[in-house]
Amino acid sequence: MLTKEDLRIGVFVCDCGSNIAGFVNTETVREFAETLPDVVVSVKNKYTCSDPGQQEIQRTIFEKKLNRIVVASCSPASYEPIFRQCIQGAGLNPYLLEMANLREHCSWVTPDREAATWKAKDILKVAVSRARWLYPQDEEQITVTDAALVIGGGVAGMQAALDLADAGHQVYLVEQKPSIGGIMAQLDKVYPDIECSI
Ligand code: SF4
Repeated sequence: MLTKEDLRIGVFVCDCGSNIAGFVNTETVREFAETLPDVVVSVKNKYTCSDPGQQEIQRTIFEKKLNRIVVASCSPASYEPIFRQCIQGAGLNPYLLEMANLREHCSWVTPDREAATWKAKDILKVAVSRARWLYPQDEEQITVTDAALVIGGGVAGMQAALDLADAGHQVYLVEQKPSIGGIMAQLDKVYPDIECSI
């Protein structure tokens, strides 16, 4: 396991054409990254997810002996798998990646350039802090029992149990009281049909 002294973080700030750079001063963000603890290099790309962008990440990993990567670009929902693959291709464990969302969380929702740049620096600072606590992870497949335990036999628990059963799973519904139905079962009539709740 690395000590904090061994950390070598690389930051890659993406313009996303004008999607980010049109609202955030990405060069200022890149320069700011270099002031953060354990960051040994920060690079700005026009399109980080492009082939040249990914090749630059891999090249920089080799050249600077990086062991943690922060990509400051878009939502991890879009490109995290691609960047994990990318750093894996350069010999790093894919979980040594952190993403800072400068697009959906910043440039697309912060029209004022100065405020957006300030916010982008803050988002990046947090991502670099998180990156300092990343450790390699191994993926493994385990067999699971196709059964579900639902705790609580109120309306929500009963419905969850029914939905799971309808989906073909064995369900165990556990209730501490002698009967199910929860608070609902104690009501006399319910809106809007004035039916007996039971
Ligand atoms: S990595 Fe995300 S933010 Fe950067 S160019 Fe690709 S889509 Fe745009």
